[in-house]
Amino acid sequence: MATEAEFDAFLTDLARGIPAWHRDALCAEYPHVEFFVDRGEATEPAKAICARCLVRDDCLAYALTERIAHGVWGGLSERERRRLREAAETPDTRERAA
Ligand code: SF4
Repeated sequence: MATEAEFDAFLTDLARGIPAWHRDALCAEYPHVEFFVDRGEATEPAKAICARCLVRDDCLAYALTERIAHGVWGGLSERERRRLREAAETPDTRERAA
């Protein structure tokens, strides 16, 4: 389970990347909800917040573009994002990303 410090680091990282959408990140209003769960822990509480977030699409696009491996972003777990990315990648783009 991530600590409050890890959550603060998450928000700081968002701010450093200066994506304009981060100011509307609904997760910032729920610091008690775990977005960086360990393997086997429930992601539903975080996903429920993402489902109501106005910047969900931007968040997901950011996580996919930056290849962020950990946490719930844009309503998807790291495994779901990996599957989405793999489904979208052609063999050619996979070679370039490696
Ligand atoms: S989609 Fe989820 S993780 Fe992304 S900013 Fe919104 S609440 Fe936070």
